[in-house]
Amino acid sequence: MAGFNHLFIPGPTNMPEQVRMAMNVSMQDMRAPDFPDFTKPLFEKVRRVFKNTTGRVFLYPSSGTGAWEAAIQNTLSPGDKVLMSRFGQFSHLWVDMAQRLGLDVEVFDCEWGEGVPVEKYAERLKADTSHEIKAVFATHNETATGVSSDIKGVRAALDAANHPALLMVDGVSSIGSIEFDQDAWGVDCAVSGSQKGFMLPAGLGILSVSKWALEAHKHAEFPRTFFSFDDMIATNDQGYFPYTPATQLLKGLDVSCDMIHKEGLENIWARHHRLASGVRAAVDAWGLKLCAKETKWHSDTVSAILVPEGFDARDVISTGYSKYNTSFGTGLSKVMGRVFRIGHLGWLNEGMVSTALSVAEMSMIDVGMNIKAGSGVGAAIEHFTSTQAKSGKAI
Ligand code: PLP
Repeated sequence: MAGFNHLFIPGPTNMPEQVRMAMNVSMQDMRAPDFPDFTKPLFEKVRRVFKNTTGRVFLYPSSGTGAWEAAIQNTLSPGDKVLMSRFGQFSHLWVDMAQRLGLDVEVFDCEWGEGVPVEKYAERLKADTSHEIKAVFATHNETATGVSSDIKGVRAALDAANHPALLMVDGVSSIGSIEFDQDAWGVDCAVSGSQKGFMLPAGLGILSVSKWALEAHKHAEFPRTFFSFDDMIATNDQGYFPYTPATQLLKGLDVSCDMIHKEGLENIWARHHRLASGVRAAVDAWGLKLCAKETKWHSDTVSAILVPEGFDARDVISTGYSKYNTSFGTGLSKVMGRVFRIGHLGWLNEGMVSTALSVAEMSMIDVGMNIKAGSGVGAAIEHFTSTQAKSGKAI
């Protein structure tokens, strides 16, 4: 089909040309004497994206799921009691992993469209006076439902109970896009991946850990090999890796981190909020609802849009793909057919969001939904033109 294929799934996201070109290099010797000149500053650049000044980062040649596993295996022991919540496909999968690895998982099941039940966590932690719970897990941004949760609130719940449990956060679809502050929020393990806010292809599991997580590691008894912190630390400290690193991805990561720091994290968060607000203005104008049940849970990186009864969201997605060369995210598991998702994270600006909205609109009209042409796009344009971009210029 002529023209660009438009990618509006919530990861992999659009890749800046600078990042793509940075990866277009010939193979390199990952044991060369000057390799650490590249890797050591890179570790620092990545750490700054997490706002982690006291711990360290690990870059695994895996996807985000690998970093989930690394966090568990390196800081906990089989049979440890942990507190989790499930309200979408990704929070579900992390619970499933924890159970399969042999943790004693206490799960709060919430409706899909809700977020981390902070008050319930607070109550449970207060009641746990013997400190049986070793870690509290929270999915910062549930990509399946477009729900962001209050991680600061989870830290406050731990502090109010004077509870020493580790705080484990899935930031795969939040870090590098929306507000995240590992130091200030006392996050012990912050999990991410390369293909969302970091604007790279999939292939890196990025894990940022606090000094407390490194301390817990000393007593953690899960067996581990590929993801071992010890093996990573021993080699990373010299600027190398315990196995062949994904050097091209690291080259891309170097440039994407430079772009992130040049734009500034606060400006990036503001840009994502502005673009997401435009999408939400469109959803309102269409007369549709988001899967996220309350404003406080609205995600600035992905919107899961509910289609009216009698329609199948998969028809909207397949029309967008086959007729307009555009990809939207499908509904996963429980919300399959009920929602289509617009990913609005990463390397993105107003024009790109307007394209997403116009294709969504055309696709919904094509499948017979009662949508007035231009209504959503118009509302987004009104939002974009009546508010000021904070950074002045998109990257
Ligand atoms: N957690 C969240 C919130 C995600 O959105 C994803 C993937 O989309 C994952 C975890 C899993 O990451 P990966 O697919 O990189 O393994």
